[in-house]
Amino acid sequence: MGVDYYEVLGVGKSASQDEIRKAYRNLALKYHPDRNKEHGSEEKFKEINEAYAVLSDQEKRKQYDAYGPDQFNRKFTEEDIFRGFDMEEVLRSMGFDFGSFGGQGAFGSMFGFGGGGRDVGSDLLAKTSVSLEEAAKGSEREIRVRHVKLCGNCEGSGAERGSKVSRCDKCSGTGQMKTTHRTPFGMMQTISTCNKCGGTGKFAEKACHVCRGEGRVMDDEKVKVNIPKGIATGTRLRLRGMGNYGSEGTGDLYIDVEVGEDRRFEREGDDIHHTIRIPFYTAILGGEVMVATLYGEEKVRIGKNTQNGEIILIKGRGMPHFNRSGQGDEIVSVVVDVPKHVNGEQEELVRRFMELDSKGAKKKFGVF
Ligand SMILES: [Zn+2]
Ligand SMILES: [Zn+2]
Repeated sequence: MGVDYYEVLGVGKSASQDEIRKAYRNLALKYHPDRNKEHGSEEKFKEINEAYAVLSDQEKRKQYDAYGPDQFNRKFTEEDIFRGFDMEEVLRSMGFDFGSFGGQGAFGSMFGFGGGGRDVGSDLLAKTSVSLEEAAKGSEREIRVRHVKLCGNCEGSGAERGSKVSRCDKCSGTGQMKTTHRTPFGMMQTISTCNKCGGTGKFAEKACHVCRGEGRVMDDEKVKVNIPKGIATGTRLRLRGMGNYGSEGTGDLYIDVEVGEDRRFEREGDDIHHTIRIPFYTAILGGEVMVATLYGEEKVRIGKNTQNGEIILIKGRGMPHFNRSGQGDEIVSVVVDVPKHVNGEQEELVRRFMELDSKGAKKKFGVF
């Protein structure tokens, strides 16, 4: 069953290259698996790319228009459709930047083709979050990662211990298979990993019972991640070699860190804003109050005659600078509280205070 590529991209049959490009860009933004975690979005993303791979190529588009979706689909394989289409390159040229997934990274592996037969493990992406306090002090997280690992039983050879190992006859020990096929677009050679030896070039008489001769296993692992001090939302940490294993290079594990909000504090770069309320008599007489900081409560002196809105700076109690020494400050705004209720005696005292204050003030504001 053929797919209507025009419908997939939401453009008309006579759409210009520019319109097709724009439509693709918008859909790629919406459905890219790095952004869209909804079920089915990966499938949708692949469909968009397939449509664009054909419609952005004049030759392929001509064929598609001539044959119609159903016949086109029967005639051409996935390899034909994607030939000459480098999605990462296309996305990059459109200004996308999804981190440094190198080699046969997240994109290549998702489609199960490309990569030219090189056995490079793909990168993985995980997420974690920490509280603001944890971000200030530095923290540790355990991340569950499901990745391809070198088989520990055979150490990658794929052979059961003690079993005889000989050169793979299918690939003559190269680990690679080359296939040439004729496509409507010309001759095409594909290099892929040998499916008999899994790219090792060797074949064991008795396959390793753990990995069934593949030399690698899928493993669920818990990985300890150090969350460095001063981290901010959007920082991407990288754990080298914790992605998927490949004999020509193992991928990395990337971790996107999100720093949670804290109702007490507002972060501004590495400075922390905080508000305290003090009774009006403390504002007048001065005193000491306990103030919350990211590092626990701290005693802070309130000067005599402190005004509403005054700022007190607690040096060095902000966030540590990320990847360098030093730290920001805590900036405390003082709010002077007026009591909601006073009893008779308290009111008398305030009245007396007013009388002592100045006759001028009394005249100006009046007394009721
Ligand atoms: Zn094994
Ligand atoms: Zn082989």
